[in-house]
Amino acid sequence: MSLTDIIVSEIEHGADGTDIKCGVIGEIGTSWPITESEKRVLQATAHAQAQLGCPVIIHPGRNTEAPFQVIRILQEAGGDISKTVMSHLDRTIFESEKLLEFAKLGSYLEYDLFGTEMLNYPFNPDVDMPSDNERIKRLRLLIGEGFEDRIVIAHDIHTKNRLTKFGGHGYSHILTNIVPKMLQRGITQHAVDNILVENPKRWLTFK
Ligand SMILES: [Zn+2]
Repeated sequence: MSLTDIIVSEIEHGADGTDIKCGVIGEIGTSWPITESEKRVLQATAHAQAQLGCPVIIHPGRNTEAPFQVIRILQEAGGDISKTVMSHLDRTIFESEKLLEFAKLGSYLEYDLFGTEMLNYPFNPDVDMPSDNERIKRLRLLIGEGFEDRIVIAHDIHTKNRLTKFGGHGYSHILTNIVPKMLQRGITQHAVDNILVENPKRWLTFK
């Protein structure tokens, strides 16, 4: 069975021997520099997406060029970039000009490290992890440049210390703290609704 067939079958029939069907392909992880096997997985992802019209989400390598390279690989293999989320832009693209250049490629733009405020980013010491306030400025820039219908946001909670039980901000951080700050900084309720409701809904709907 080819990699593409495995992915298609997990969406059409069920994953891991169950009848539970996957609703998205991903998060597909890639490194920097990208490896040959990661490239093959991306190509299989694009082939499956071309057949099914399903949503895809990508974890880019930790380098500004990584998201660009991934989009190119997906595109060349027939993937639908308009139904693809590029995650972790917070720690990947830092210059406004680069960000807008990437936005023009047409994928969803995900800022998903809300709540992660740290002096040193252990996965890449060269990177200054943005604060939530800086993330909101990024969103404002993208909205101002007409990309309101391409933005999605999340918390990427993957460690215990970020749960409320262990003293973290928990899963309500965006709704409780970030949305009020977005409004205070001039982002409209209409844009907030797009980012939190309409964009994810459109992304998650099969074509
Ligand atoms: Zn990831």
